[in-house]
Amino acid sequence: MKKQNILITGGAGFIGSNLIAALIELEHVGKVRVLDNLATGFRRNLEPWLGHQKFEFMEGDIRDYETCEEACAGIDLISHQAALGSVPRSIKDPLTTNAVNITGFLNVLQAAVKKGIKRFVFAASSSTYGDSQGLPKVENVIGNPLSPYAVTKYVNELYADVFARTYGIECIGMRYFNVFGPLQDPNGAYAAVIPLFFKAALQEEAPVINGDGSYSRDFTYIDNALEANLLSLFTPTSTIRANAQKSGYSLKEGYLAEIFNIACGQRTTLLELWELIRDATGATVQPIFGPERSGDIPHSLAEISKARAILGYTGKVSIKEGIEKTLPFAQSVSS
Ligand code: NAD
Repeated sequence: MKKQNILITGGAGFIGSNLIAALIELEHVGKVRVLDNLATGFRRNLEPWLGHQKFEFMEGDIRDYETCEEACAGIDLISHQAALGSVPRSIKDPLTTNAVNITGFLNVLQAAVKKGIKRFVFAASSSTYGDSQGLPKVENVIGNPLSPYAVTKYVNELYADVFARTYGIECIGMRYFNVFGPLQDPNGAYAAVIPLFFKAALQEEAPVINGDGSYSRDFTYIDNALEANLLSLFTPTSTIRANAQKSGYSLKEGYLAEIFNIACGQRTTLLELWELIRDATGATVQPIFGPERSGDIPHSLAEISKARAILGYTGKVSIKEGIEKTLPFAQSVSS
């Protein structure tokens, strides 16, 4: 089998840099190339790989089409992770979020088509469920988006479908649900809740819980997201189709463009999350309750049967185990 050369956009970020480690030692992987402008990612996340014979780093911006074409040259498969995350950031600056998450996405996808790339796997988001009330969330039932960020992630799915239908590129979107783990940045205005809670617990400073703590999420340990990426990149089309048929899912006819929930399938409230982190760290500090954040979905829980049945995804690392595995990293950045 020919070795596969893989482009990770956003590879200096949290999920992308963990993905380098998961891919680079695989026998059937040739090159791993990262395209990243270091907007929210870090060179230090790439340091273990700089100088590795299979690794290449291109510092560049997905908003520039020529850069995307250059990054796609000689590549077989793409894992597109580059985006500006965070609902609050998108509310504060919708134009930049749109430029990166929609125009940038389109640039990478168009460059992928131009360079004849077979499969484009991309980071979608549970925010696409918007105001839909039902739980658990099933891929084909979404509501209205509640933030500019959610709009961009939904538009990504629409473009992926149209590009697969029109140009034949295979597209797989992973709707991640609150991914956490080592290398997730605890600093800055838009840090995610788990690194923030870890930081507060380890420094014995009261964490702020937005709302009364009853909002819930399907927190997903990074290894589950990596499992999903590997399966989405490497599962042959024939296997995807055969598995879908066996399990009663009807896929699009004539082209491959599918969306999968990638989560743990377990719901944890913010208060329970704080208790898990408090217990793991031995913190004694009490939380402070703040106002709810605009654009936030109250509850989120994924139905992960589709990914299980079609990709063989397990999502087997529980939140509790994930918190324990994240602790050493949280300690290393807090000291
Ligand atoms: P991250 O911010 O750590 O990583 C994103 C990376 O993209 C960073 O390295 C950043 O520098 C890079 N980037 C941003 N703008 C760029 C540009 N214009 N050109 C090139 N590179 C650019 O975020 P993450 O948590 O690793 O998220 C990865 C992907 O997963 C994103 O698409 C995000 O929207 C999506 N997602 C994440 C979560 C989560 O819980 N972490 C949930 C749902 C979806």
